[in-house]
Amino acid sequence: MHRHTASISLATLCLWAGFCRADLSPTEATIAAAAQKRAPAAEALLERAVNIQSPTENVAGVRAVGDLFAAELARLGMQTRWIDMPAGMHRAGHLVATTNGSKGKRVLMLGHMDTVLSGEPFRREGNIAHGTGSDDMKGGIVVMLLALQAMADAGVLADSRVTVMLTGDEEDVGVPLETSRGPMLELARNSDVLLGFEAAYEGTATIGRRGAGSWTLQTTGETGHSSQIFGTVMGDGAIYEAARILEAFRKELGTERYLTINPSVIVGGTTANMNDIAGSAAGKTNVIAPAAIVRGDIRFISIEQERSARERMQAIVARHAPRTGATLVFHESYPAMTPTPGNEALLAQLDAASRDLGQGPVEALDPGKRGAGDIGFVSHLAPGLDGLGSAGGKNAHAPGEYTDIASLLPMARRTAILLHRLGR
Ligand SMILES: [Zn+2]
Repeated sequence: MHRHTASISLATLCLWAGFCRADLSPTEATIAAAAQKRAPAAEALLERAVNIQSPTENVAGVRAVGDLFAAELARLGMQTRWIDMPAGMHRAGHLVATTNGSKGKRVLMLGHMDTVLSGEPFRREGNIAHGTGSDDMKGGIVVMLLALQAMADAGVLADSRVTVMLTGDEEDVGVPLETSRGPMLELARNSDVLLGFEAAYEGTATIGRRGAGSWTLQTTGETGHSSQIFGTVMGDGAIYEAARILEAFRKELGTERYLTINPSVIVGGTTANMNDIAGSAAGKTNVIAPAAIVRGDIRFISIEQERSARERMQAIVARHAPRTGATLVFHESYPAMTPTPGNEALLAQLDAASRDLGQGPVEALDPGKRGAGDIGFVSHLAPGLDGLGSAGGKNAHAPGEYTDIASLLPMARRTAILLHRLGR
């Protein structure tokens, strides 16, 4: 374990460009300097990656992003392979690259090549790099690569035991999950440390992130003349039943830490139809609505919280308003990354690396501040961190996405120093 102090290091003269930190070993200073040399090329690579459109459904685009990074990883002496998904899944597959070393901890580095949206090309304004996927998370893949390049240049990559996995469907995961995430589970089972490169929040890393799932609520009621609503014959109708249930979700579960329940779309009336994200409804104002459908999501910090919330939601549903019925169905969900002591110990190592670089402390990000991610599928298998990618960005999953291109170098450096220390 590397020594670290919070105090200013001794003013030791050093020969490495810009590194006068007594807290870095000579090899580490070489790694840090190598990252600096590679940074301009890394910025150019981000531009190329952003300019390949790769929303999840664009299988050829995702594959092209994979080819771009596969070539870079192969250049470092890593063995690369592509894992195809079945054609019917309509997902591009995953890129895996490994070193052949035998020293230190086995580290699995995770990223994703796909984006939610598409269409905004790379455009640089000072240190702001605009473009779809710049922040989420092509910037993160570049951080990962730059760290590995710096290690290779310093001659410490080949001996290490590092595996990179870039998935092609993080934003809209392919089903069945056993197929789309099976390879990741297999790699994680053979790893000691998991590192995710989703976008960073300045001065933090992620030791926990919430899982997410979706649900569909369908309510029914009697239909007839509107004047009879609330009566014993007609009861409350399907729309009041949906409203009752949603209000109870908010009241009874709305203040629990790290738990959120979001109704995202609702239809109701004499007729109500809904597919995954869109619906239609019709009804006259003088008719009691017999049908309503609500779709929404639920986010949670642990399997236990998810289970408990589902039970309480079902209990709320079961307390039907007069002459109504309702069913609540939960769909496949993205598991949470639950904060653990192992994750915290890893964070302490990253914090030490950052301080030793003179880049300041790294604290745990509030788990409520970020959504679900790939690392949740495997975080129960080994200690891990996420949020190690590019920083200072905004508007992920939204128009106007950007990242701070000046963050690539410091983020890559802290990762490279951490990897080097894990690899000893
Ligand atoms: Zn992402």
